[in-house]
Amino acid sequence: MSFTNLGLRSELTEAVKAKGYTEPSPIQAQAIPAILAGKDVIGGAQTGTGKTAAFGLPLLQILAESEFKTKRPRCLILAPTRELAAQVHQSILDYGKRLNLKSVVIFGGVGFNPQTTALRRGVDIIVATPGRLLDLCQRREANLSAVEILVLDEADRMLDMGFIHDIKKILKLLPQKRQNLFFSATYSREVKKLADSILSEPVEVEVAPRNATADRVDQEAYEVGQKSKRSVLSSMISRGDWSQVLVFTRTKHGANRLATQLDKDGITSLAIHGNKSQSARERALASFKANKIRVLVATDIAARGLDIASLPYVVNFELPNVPEDYVHRIGRTGRAGKSGKAVSLVSEVEGQHLHAIEKLLKKQIPLFRLKENGDRIEVGSDQRRPFETQNRPHQRNSPKNVKRPNRRRGPKGRPSNSTAEASGRSSERKKTASSTASPTPSNRGGWRPRKAKPSSLKR
Ligand code: AMP
Repeated sequence: MSFTNLGLRSELTEAVKAKGYTEPSPIQAQAIPAILAGKDVIGGAQTGTGKTAAFGLPLLQILAESEFKTKRPRCLILAPTRELAAQVHQSILDYGKRLNLKSVVIFGGVGFNPQTTALRRGVDIIVATPGRLLDLCQRREANLSAVEILVLDEADRMLDMGFIHDIKKILKLLPQKRQNLFFSATYSREVKKLADSILSEPVEVEVAPRNATADRVDQEAYEVGQKSKRSVLSSMISRGDWSQVLVFTRTKHGANRLATQLDKDGITSLAIHGNKSQSARERALASFKANKIRVLVATDIAARGLDIASLPYVVNFELPNVPEDYVHRIGRTGRAGKSGKAVSLVSEVEGQHLHAIEKLLKKQIPLFRLKENGDRIEVGSDQRRPFETQNRPHQRNSPKNVKRPNRRRGPKGRPSNSTAEASGRSSERKKTASSTASPTPSNRGGWRPRKAKPSSLKR
């Protein structure tokens, strides 16, 4: 199978050749012909599968071959984060460099001027995050009335970030008749509902079971007390001589603190998260990619869309309480055919997060305990006691899912507090739901999983 066989023009096949792609990835092989045929497409592809080219190449071809001339954009690509938007735009520039098409990337946190100037001159393609795009539409700087192709990239993350209302508003500004391409790594009920409202008789392309993690990622989990996590991580990185380690924390504050501590341990580290300026994030990412720093500590949102070729290590310093986030996180490694390692440090209170993740993946992640000398012993299946799942941590927190604090079971006299961890996450994610729905140390004063003793890792 070659890119030419898929019906792509020479300008595009030459561009992918220049990028070093020798053959289409499975999602490209499936999606490109369907998109070229004008069909709506729904793509269930995990990260790192080459989905940007899967929609980017055919849409460039369609636009290049169209005879309709207008200064208004004919294609809109929506992405959840600035990083992903910038990265998708770069791919569009790379793939389309032999075509006479104009594009602009639009996101918040930077000045309006370059974006409005480009829009006034006329563009064929807009790659945008929803908020800033709406802002520009309201200022009548962006006119979406000629959009023929809509791409929703990482739709699941857009919903997680609370963009549903912005997306609905943007949809109202688009012509009814258009081609829709919808990509999401995971498919919750909400994602399916959004897809149903947008797509018409879509061709379904799926290259891996939904919610599956890349086969090439070697996954391990370690039972580690919260207080020991930093020293365990330091010694893993030093002893294993790991370079390019992407470490996930749940909060911005936690990311800063960990980066500083690792730096003190002699492991060069920087943090990226939503409170950092765009230029600080880009600088940190560039240093990481250039191997100038060893560790990049990131929150989920900041890491979304990072494209670091062949990233070898991903560490979950804290497990996400939304299991789908685990799939996204470890999708940063094992990309484009390379192998990778994903290590999770699991404290006592995170046992149920691990359980929820394994349930989603439909497989058990090898769990180890560390001896004092640093050797590890595997925790056998028989040592993993069944975990009470009545309060599944990944249940989104619609009011009916919110558990009322159970005063009889809760620790006596301990006030239900809201720590920096919870507030950090809630300010980064517009959707605050999960912060109250998970038994983190920050809200243990509220509800707790029945029968789960916090002193041991229950599953
Ligand atoms: P994506 O899933 O679009 O983020 O792509 C993941 C990575 O795979 C990026 O670094 C792409 O440049 C790379 N890639 C995309 N398509 C191919 C291909 N056909 N062959 C090799 N690498 C590819």
